[in-house]
Amino acid sequence: MESPVIIVGAGPTGLMLAGELGLAGADVLVLEKLAEPSGESRGLGFGPRTMEVFAQRGILEDFGEFARSSAGHFGGIPLDFAVFDGAHFSVNGVPQSRTEAVLGRWLDRLGVEVRRGVEVTGIDADADGVDVHVTAPGGPATLRASYVVGCDGGRSTVRALAGFRFEGSAPTLEMYLADVEGVEVKPRLIGEHTSGGMAMAGPIGAGVTRVISCELGNEPGERTAPLAYAEVAAAWKRLTGEDIADGRPLWVSSFTDAARQATEYRRGRVFLAGDAAHICLPAGGQGMNTGVQDAANLGWKLAAQVAGWAPEGLLDTYHAERHPVGARLLRNTRAQGMLTLGGEAARPLRDVLAELMVYDEVARHLAGMVSGLDIRYEMGPGDHPLLGRRMPHIDVVVAGTKTTTGELLRSGRGLLLDLSGNPELRTAASGWGDRVDVVTAALADPETDSSAYADALLIRPDGHVAWTASGGAGENPDGGPGEALTRWFGRPRT
Ligand SMILES: Cc1cc2nc3c(=O)[nH]c(=O)nc-3n(C[C@H](O)[C@H](O)[C@H](O)COP(=O)(O)OP(=O)(O)OC[C@H]3O[C@@H](n4cnc5c(N)ncnc54)[C@H](O)[C@@H]3O)c2cc1C
Repeated sequence: MESPVIIVGAGPTGLMLAGELGLAGADVLVLEKLAEPSGESRGLGFGPRTMEVFAQRGILEDFGEFARSSAGHFGGIPLDFAVFDGAHFSVNGVPQSRTEAVLGRWLDRLGVEVRRGVEVTGIDADADGVDVHVTAPGGPATLRASYVVGCDGGRSTVRALAGFRFEGSAPTLEMYLADVEGVEVKPRLIGEHTSGGMAMAGPIGAGVTRVISCELGNEPGERTAPLAYAEVAAAWKRLTGEDIADGRPLWVSSFTDAARQATEYRRGRVFLAGDAAHICLPAGGQGMNTGVQDAANLGWKLAAQVAGWAPEGLLDTYHAERHPVGARLLRNTRAQGMLTLGGEAARPLRDVLAELMVYDEVARHLAGMVSGLDIRYEMGPGDHPLLGRRMPHIDVVVAGTKTTTGELLRSGRGLLLDLSGNPELRTAASGWGDRVDVVTAALADPETDSSAYADALLIRPDGHVAWTASGGAGENPDGGPGEALTRWFGRPRT
């Protein structure tokens, strides 16, 4: 066995997943076909939930200075993520290449190997493991793994080789992107609608502007040559009347509105995550965010499986929890596509939605959808509002020291957070001491509405609340954490 888990692809999803497995002590290997990182950045930031996921692993600091904003949008209509509790800011101005570099350094610290220049070309799964055929600098080779995860992007080889179905809608529109310097372009951060379509532009640092043209009727066709900057400049001129042809392009690319999702996220020993599992229009910066959260969901479960303590069915909860999230991503990006790419015909729809956005419930619903802050997984009995949702990162005091609930998750283990100083909880959880930390804490800010939190909460390694004690805003019928501990962390040690 080369490694119990082989991850194909060192994009943000694969790197995050590898970190989660490495943190849990699992033997994991990442295979990446590119000999060096491309340096390209489709994404230029990440959303509030990704920020929390990075914070709860202690890697947010590695990004250095960055701009934070609670502003988002739905189909170009502004919305505010601050309607949610806790840290709820998006990060702007961080190119995806920097995110990948930060994740790469995290893997170095964890001792996880990313083997570059290795392209996966074949997969043979049997009852005991998976043969992974590769082409590598030294020639073709076959590696053996217990589990394989395809994090190899929208054109996933793993997806095709393992027979996953990838269903959805074909592209109807091709959009152009260029990072250009040496030319002044008026900013249009959430897009400007023109009679010909939509134009977006914004500075991305050091005199460079990103321009994106979405021209109505520009149907995708077979390309015989790579997209040229002259084509981007011509589309820009048609849309805006501005001439940017003299600019110096640093990167030119195109993308479409294709929306597809794998019908299964797991086939036996092979899993899909990130763009390999779902592709959609990049509306509201959700693609990488969803991939990072796929990884946070799958990582601890796969690590539990290879460590031997995973309860029956734990691995299947990955599809059960994340497939609906992917389906919702496709739905909301399709809807945003209709708003942003619908030209003049969609203006009444945009106007009506903008009117609705002043209602708190509407704004909260859409902010939750785009940010991923409202995701709720099925956790069984209990009606506490936090059950199944992500634990907000709030300030708490532990043994006289101020910290946050996010920092308490840095070990990547489960967390039984005791907010009422109840010694019985420690006793009840003692059989899971090797998998779950029991921490007695108090809310740090006396102004915090303690009724929003239960007397105790069981938080999974991905930050989602799996059980709440009675007290606070809801009741839990079972009275103790034992059932939830067994469901998520397996049998207790005796
Ligand atoms: C214009 C644009 C703007 C975007 N902006 C944002 C944004 O602001 N925020 C956001 O969250 N998302 C954004 N996205 C989406 C985001 O870029 C993707 O969702 C994200 O890159 C997906 O990450 P991934 O790791 O799943 O796949 P990828 O980033 O595609 O990584 C896949 C990796 O697998 C490797 N690979 C492929 N095949 C093989 C093989 N056979 N063997 C070995 N390695 C292989 C590839 O080389 C690559 O390194 C944007 C997308 C576009 C097009």
